[in-house]
Amino acid sequence: VVRSASTPAEVLRRVFGYDSFRGNQQDIVEHVTAGNDALVLMPTGAGKSLCYQIPALVRKGVGIVVSPLIALMQDQVDALTALGVRAGFLNSTQDPDERRLVEYAFLNNELDLLYLAPERLRLDSTLRLFDQGEVALFAIDEAHCVAQWGHDFRPDYLALSTLHERWPRVPRIALTATANPATHAEIAARLNLENARHFVASFDRPNIQYRIVPKNDPKRQLLDFLRTEHPGDAGIVYCLSRASVEKTAEFLRDNGIEALPYHAGLDARTRAANQARFLREDGLVMVATIAFGMGIDKPDVRFVAHLDLPKSVEGYYQETGRAGRDGLPSTAWLAYGLQDVVQQRKMIDTSEGDDAHRRRLAAHLDTMLALCETVECRRQRLLAYFGEEHPGRCGNCDTCLSPPESWDGTIAAQKLLST
Ligand code: ADP
Ligand code: MG
Repeated sequence: VVRSASTPAEVLRRVFGYDSFRGNQQDIVEHVTAGNDALVLMPTGAGKSLCYQIPALVRKGVGIVVSPLIALMQDQVDALTALGVRAGFLNSTQDPDERRLVEYAFLNNELDLLYLAPERLRLDSTLRLFDQGEVALFAIDEAHCVAQWGHDFRPDYLALSTLHERWPRVPRIALTATANPATHAEIAARLNLENARHFVASFDRPNIQYRIVPKNDPKRQLLDFLRTEHPGDAGIVYCLSRASVEKTAEFLRDNGIEALPYHAGLDARTRAANQARFLREDGLVMVATIAFGMGIDKPDVRFVAHLDLPKSVEGYYQETGRAGRDGLPSTAWLAYGLQDVVQQRKMIDTSEGDDAHRRRLAAHLDTMLALCETVECRRQRLLAYFGEEHPGRCGNCDTCLSPPESWDGTIAAQKLLST
């Protein structure tokens, strides 16, 4: 085990076995190790975890990591333990005895990292625990969960705003793969991170090929796509409803493709088993609602297919971003049809919540439509939505590879949009 008095570079090598930092990891690690706050905006797979894990190992005390990914905590802790890092977690899946053991280890400074579900922060006992031990830093992973503008809001995350008042000298590092500037501003405001330094990486994922095709017989189109371009590859197929997840998975299996379903209607054990198989076995296709995917670290996902229109560009970016974490060529494939637009408009009109919420949803949908309808470089359009300039003509999206004349859907959609 590496204890304090090591430098970040030593910890990177000795504990994690890497020769060099990537991107701006080193700047971030040094900034936080020195006791400063940071807001880290980096795409999926870029290596956010080391940005808090290394400062937690170098600084005195225990690094507290707040994460909504309860299902992954055991895996994360196991992976760290295998590296000789002393890690534990506290969440609702444990019984009181298990939790007491972890709390005891925390109080005795026998932990380097403690993962925590956000709802634990609502408990006074958790806050008192932190008072009695020594906290090296607070890491707030998946920090976009604090923002209502985004698509993943978790009310428990609001409790994080009080950390700074109670422990003003403990550095905080908030991390997200969400690229949207409005969400960034909301994260900074809600977490009182106004004085934090922002570290923004490019959100371009050059190895992902973006393709949007007109939807007519989606399951059949998907099958053709998989057979011609991704035979035997691992990938994720997103569907809007649980019913279409089940039907699509069955259809693929009937056609000789190993596909597993994943949605919130399945019991927890089936979900966990399917997720574990997808992660560990080669070449499985996960057919899922958007309940699946956040925090999934599978490097060789070769494609992400959408059979239904995502509700926002942000969602589309996050979901497609699960492809190609290993940097190898991967495909983001979306079947887009007008029925989806009609259906989603209806869902928005009848959705719960106030007018402001409905307006937000409608604005999200409109930006997604604009991305589908563009005849220019999709990558440029996608990155522009996140405030990032790209020269266009990326050469790795459908509009660059085969410039569209225009297809019937475009005109039909314009009519629809103007009514
Ligand atoms: P993120 O949280 O940003 O999606 P992770 O922290 O899960 O990304 O890292 C993604 C992968 O990249 C992991 O397998 C991790 O071990 C690897 N990685 C991170 N930093 C480095 C580095 N400096 N050198 C080599 N591999 C790295
Ligand atoms: Mg991560």
